[in-house]
Amino acid sequence: MKNTLIRLSFLICLMMGFQWSHSQPDNSTFIKAGKLFDSEKGVLLADQVIKINRNRISEVGTEISIPEGSTIIDLSEHTVLPGLIDAHTHMMTLEDLNLDHPMGDKLLFEGDALRVLRGAKRAKSWLDNGFTTIKDLGDSGAFLDVALKKAINEGTMDGPRMFVSGPIIISEGGQVPGLVYSHRNVIEDEYTIIKNVDEAINAVRKHLTYGADLIKICANNTPNVTSLTIDEMKAIVKMAHRYNVKVTAHATDDRAIWEAVTAGVDGIEHGYQVSDTTLTLMAKKGVVLVPTDISRPLFSKLYDIVDFQWDREKNMQRAKDRYTDRLQRAIKAGVTIVTGSDNYLDLEMPQGEAAKHILIAYHEEGMTSTQILQSSTYLSAKFMGRENELGVIKKGAYADIIAVKGDIENDFDNAMFNMVMVMKDGKIYVDNDKLVEEIFVADNLLRSYEGQYQLNPDMVITVAKNGRILKAGATGQGEYDFYPKDQNVFYSSSVNLQLTFNKNGQDEIESLTLLAGGEESLCPKIKE
Ligand SMILES: [Zn+2]
Repeated sequence: MKNTLIRLSFLICLMMGFQWSHSQPDNSTFIKAGKLFDSEKGVLLADQVIKINRNRISEVGTEISIPEGSTIIDLSEHTVLPGLIDAHTHMMTLEDLNLDHPMGDKLLFEGDALRVLRGAKRAKSWLDNGFTTIKDLGDSGAFLDVALKKAINEGTMDGPRMFVSGPIIISEGGQVPGLVYSHRNVIEDEYTIIKNVDEAINAVRKHLTYGADLIKICANNTPNVTSLTIDEMKAIVKMAHRYNVKVTAHATDDRAIWEAVTAGVDGIEHGYQVSDTTLTLMAKKGVVLVPTDISRPLFSKLYDIVDFQWDREKNMQRAKDRYTDRLQRAIKAGVTIVTGSDNYLDLEMPQGEAAKHILIAYHEEGMTSTQILQSSTYLSAKFMGRENELGVIKKGAYADIIAVKGDIENDFDNAMFNMVMVMKDGKIYVDNDKLVEEIFVADNLLRSYEGQYQLNPDMVITVAKNGRILKAGATGQGEYDFYPKDQNVFYSSSVNLQLTFNKNGQDEIESLTLLAGGEESLCPKIKE
């Protein structure tokens, strides 16, 4: 009797002091990884378990115990990798290869609204192809990249994490050769054209104010003849670094690359004609190279589209030889390689799929699968100063995780295009193997759970339908979304609460069982 009394009073205390909103969440998801790519060390680990709490990784290892009833994503037959990072994209640009003036077409006839809508669809194609993060480097109008980034971050659109540069900071004429003087205002929004050091400084201020995460400059803009001076580039770098923002430079010929590196930029995009001397300087200063090369399958596709027949194989080989020579010399010099597709041509396939060919291009040019994957994950994140949360599968990092089917060591190209799963921020966007069973509860059943339930003399739980899920709140406390775990069981992903609805003999809902902190409370239904 005494024991029962103590137990009863304990229960009453528990109920009176019940804090709906203070329960700690424990809705962890567990991934069983047959092979897991450790991007920091560049090795494949066997039989790992990844524990994910909401949008972050909370544990990785072989000794993690999985509690009964947990959500398990079984990838034990597959290879699990950090989400890929494409460090050079142009979401707002897709050029028709058969147009004489694709830039003019875009600037005069597309318009911002249509341009962003198209960009949003392209962004999704990157995510579908396993890129959970991209760096968008201009050609995106007046900060349209910032708008798309916001839409993705707030959940309005599905897409990769975006880090954006805003307009490219550049000298007279931008990257639009042949533009006539009287129409120069057409490119005013597309580029930030600077005329001197003061304007260079102001350009950085403008970009950071309106939402840029990084600065992109053009150290040369061939075939336009003029370019930024070293002093202008130095001023840009100094101003950006003052705010801990990185600067990366489009630079193709050796002089432009050398000048940009001398001015202190953090990265070189393309770098086609870089000399060994400049590569040595890059290695010494820790400047990365983003080689935006084209794979053989994409060359063939491109030649088909423009109906280019003359000496195709010889032309392709010449280009590949140049790419390979430059890439291998850079690696030999000790320059960090970071993956960037620079895909802005309409190759009659989803743009994100074309972008993924950059992995094949590097493979063709002699990089190993491990080197390519490190350049596409950890090294790219490190270049952004975010190697603790992006491009890695370790405690504290964002749950940006992909899985591929096949042998990434011996059949890299095919495996990387055989995507099983794409998870970004803890949410699954691609599930080609039906790894997670989706539970749909019919509208009339959801409606039957609506009503008020008595938790204790002072507290009532109110349940309402909210689209495909339920919303529930307790008297004087917060309201939360509850997702179906089963036809009559719902859980919250933000607090550790679970609701189970119980029927009477007449098939009517008579009560709910609240599970909070391991304790069950039966709450009779008091009102429909
Ligand atoms: Zn580019």
